Amino acid sequence: MRDQQATAAMEAGGRERAGLHGDGPLLVLGAAGTGKTELLARRLARLADGGTPPERILVIGSTRATARRLRERAEALVQGPFEELWVGSWDTIGERLLREHAEAAGLDPFFDVLGPAERLAMLLDRLDQLPLRRHEIRGNPAGLLARLLARIDALKSERVGPTTLEQRARAKEEAASDEADLESMRREIEFAELYTAHDRILAEAGSLDRGDVFLAFDCLLAERPDLRRLIATRFEYLMVDELEETTPAQRAILEALSRDNPNHLYALEETDLSEPAEGEARGGPRTDALARPQDPPSPPAQLPGAWFRDLFPQGDVVVLGHRFREPALRFWRCANERAQSQAVAREVEHLLAAGADPEKICVLVAEPGRQGGAVAAAMEERGIPFHLSGPAALFQRPEVRDAIAWLRALAKPDDSPAVARALTRPPVELRPGDLARLTTIARRRKQDMVAACEAALDSPQFQPEARERIQSFLKLYNAASAAMEERRADVFVRRLIERVGLRRQRLFAAQPEVAERLLGLSRLAELATAWARREPHGSTRGFVAYLSAVAEAGVEPAGGEEPPSPASVQGMAIDAVKGIGFDHVFVLGLEGEADWSRIGWPARSTLVFSRLERGEEGEAQPSRFYAEALAVAAGEEEEHGEELFGPAEGLHATYRTLREQVLEASWRAGRELSEPRLDTAIDVNRAIARYLELLKLAALAQRPGDEPTAEAIEAVNGLLRQVATTEQQAELDASSLDSYLLDSEHERGRRRELIAARAEPSLEAFLPRRGDGRLSLSASDLSLYLTCPLKYKFARVFGIPQEPTINQRFGILIHNVLERFHKEPPANDEDGLRELTGLFETGWRRTGFGATDDELQFRDRAREALRLYWERERVAEGEPVWLERKFDFKVGEHHVRGRVDRVDRLPDGDYELIDYKTGERRTAAELESDLQLALYRLAAREAWEVEASAGSYYYVLDADKVAAPTKPDDAERVERTVLQVGEGILGQDFEPRPSPSVCGWCDYRLICPAAES
Ligand code: SF4
Repeated sequence: MRDQQATAAMEAGGRERAGLHGDGPLLVLGAAGTGKTELLARRLARLADGGTPPERILVIGSTRATARRLRERAEALVQGPFEELWVGSWDTIGERLLREHAEAAGLDPFFDVLGPAERLAMLLDRLDQLPLRRHEIRGNPAGLLARLLARIDALKSERVGPTTLEQRARAKEEAASDEADLESMRREIEFAELYTAHDRILAEAGSLDRGDVFLAFDCLLAERPDLRRLIATRFEYLMVDELEETTPAQRAILEALSRDNPNHLYALEETDLSEPAEGEARGGPRTDALARPQDPPSPPAQLPGAWFRDLFPQGDVVVLGHRFREPALRFWRCANERAQSQAVAREVEHLLAAGADPEKICVLVAEPGRQGGAVAAAMEERGIPFHLSGPAALFQRPEVRDAIAWLRALAKPDDSPAVARALTRPPVELRPGDLARLTTIARRRKQDMVAACEAALDSPQFQPEARERIQSFLKLYNAASAAMEERRADVFVRRLIERVGLRRQRLFAAQPEVAERLLGLSRLAELATAWARREPHGSTRGFVAYLSAVAEAGVEPAGGEEPPSPASVQGMAIDAVKGIGFDHVFVLGLEGEADWSRIGWPARSTLVFSRLERGEEGEAQPSRFYAEALAVAAGEEEEHGEELFGPAEGLHATYRTLREQVLEASWRAGRELSEPRLDTAIDVNRAIARYLELLKLAALAQRPGDEPTAEAIEAVNGLLRQVATTEQQAELDASSLDSYLLDSEHERGRRRELIAARAEPSLEAFLPRRGDGRLSLSASDLSLYLTCPLKYKFARVFGIPQEPTINQRFGILIHNVLERFHKEPPANDEDGLRELTGLFETGWRRTGFGATDDELQFRDRAREALRLYWERERVAEGEPVWLERKFDFKVGEHHVRGRVDRVDRLPDGDYELIDYKTGERRTAAELESDLQLALYRLAAREAWEVEASAGSYYYVLDADKVAAPTKPDDAERVERTVLQVGEGILGQDFEPRPSPSVCGWCDYRLICPAAES
């Protein structure tokens, strides 16, 4: 085997050598930004100029974006005419070649390649046929199936089929030593069965998934050597960009083709913070963070570099040095997710103010569907156009959500959030107070919201203007409702968009994002067309069910690229950024397990790595990637806290940003002074002008009194004019700093006005008050408001009716069973379990639970949990003395009410307050600042004059009781919280607090503006 280091070290000009490479295999190694993609495009052009027909050169990029860039460069570089360029992504090239040889592969030539959304819809349609008893569904089959589909895709890319998976699991099952291992292997066997069922369902529909394309193609090449030779020689040269992104299944295809033609050139990213010399080899284990390869998947996969050397022992390796992009690295430590989003939005605002192009700024998150919302909300607060792309991004666009709301409302009139959105968005735009009146009617009469609209027309509570709006809604609704039953899904969706005026409103809105929004609606209509093609006999309701499921699960719908987003800051998933370049890139969420070593080098100017100090689960540690990158770069962390009062942190932040610019400008000017040129004086004057502006900001930030900003700026400008030269003054006059500061002040004023406007008495009548006019708050109200004030508003102020979820119904059943059981305790121990089980079984039947896998899972878990409950109860020291005991007491001006599930008297005479939970178990550490039990203890003292020494959560499904820590200042903390929440509600402060874990389960996502981008 040729020694890689020796080979490369011999070459002084790796780049030229790679560009001039003729026949035979070659591996081009280089860090991101060293021009590997450009090298491939140039080589294609050189081969074409040398007489190789371009259509006989196959070039494959890992993503559509990389392939598009390669194609554009190649088209620009190839001089002569050509039939076509075979430049594309793995997906397009693989599908095209397989389709050409479909018959030989035993496939229908018209096979469909289905994306995750279509497969999800197929599985949901056949949910009752799927083996899912051992997989927790928890009321969200779409979410579970989306995760299982992602695992199937990963296995296919590793060439692991269901049979192999099952064999492995069975072997481990035999060797399992405890019940937990056994159960885990049984679940794995069930997953292998699901995998088989998935493939069977696809095959019955004459379809493949993307993983199948490569597996089928690989099989074809193995079984038909004649075809393999034909394909391998049809392309004289084959080039693959981003070899590190290829899967074992794709590399198996390369291996097969190389047997008949070894003219393969692969570009492989080798990232490193240090700068290699041109032509220098870099082999062996790497220690720095950015150079660390991904952990090998299980079973360990061969790394692409080693794979190349095994495949072509005599193959050349060339290393490219000299990275073209050399961004400044920055490291952020953010107090929490909101602080992080605010910091990004603040920084972006400064960049835009300094003239940066928004399209050249990018924010990267692991999952845009989950984490993009917080960034979108922070950008929104500052009025920064932000475009989030990614699988679920289409469903976060307001116009698409409007259309989905109408579709859902038409399919199910009792889908209250959908009806509420259709009512409150254009073209109806019902006012918030009128919406609250409507929900009151719906609740009182136990009607759905559409029926409540009919009733509202006769109600004197509504002003004529509100009645007109409701009437226009009903007119549209009734017309669309009739058409829904008669038309095909695609025709209906297009008509609905026209009829409801979604497209028209946008056309006349005359806003810059109009084109983008129209494209979003078109994409929705395309989805309907694709669905109708696949399901020719499907109804529009079927399409709505499909659309709701894929939107909920956040999976990528098939068909078409995302529409462009002009003049917007880009937000995307980390794995979508490869091959795309930006000036400024923010990589968020680098804590815990986040290991984004394969992000490439996507920034030219600044690359910010950010991590949270506190995540959803509490305190968070920096990821290994972040920590090592920080150490390698010898960087310093910048700290970012949450801005409680929104983005108006003003002058100080501007000062900090400008301070950096001044240092940069002085460095540049200093370099020029060392080698003077004709325009050196201009750069020096520019640097001095920036410094004078820094002085101006320092003066403004420290000015005493509350003189208006405009006057203060004018006064400082007057003083600066006395010291600046004419050239420096010209620079100062050309600067946009003054107008930026004035705009910021104006924005702050506007925000204040908005907040003031929010305090209009419009929702006053709907705040949850008692007869005495005081607010009435429960522990769950407090927790709801603290989690997200907007969610509180939807649930408690508007009171939008909601169908209880399976989790909620189950929780109620368990509470009822335990209450009944303790009210009439068994006469003797022998009867206890029988009685408890009997109560549960009766309740189960009466509550209308069925026999789906989801429901049966709840039943199985409950039976086992109740058995453990009884065992625990038999030996428990405490004795229940009160069940479901209510309380009501006052804190300040507010009523605090609620009920405690169970109060036990302990052997020493003390009392323990117990709350049953059927959700996820939390540890004592996680309950450190728990509010609910602290509030219950205060309630026991105030309302019942009972001192409770302890408070515990009983996690029924885990058969575990966890005591919440008690602290001396608990009562004071509860009172303070009640007063704060009360003040917020009375002040009608219902600002959203988006966070992935909460929004992911929020019933009001469809109407929530913070869930949009
Ligand atoms: S989706 Fe998120 S931000 Fe919106 S109301 Fe629900 S929890 Fe609040």
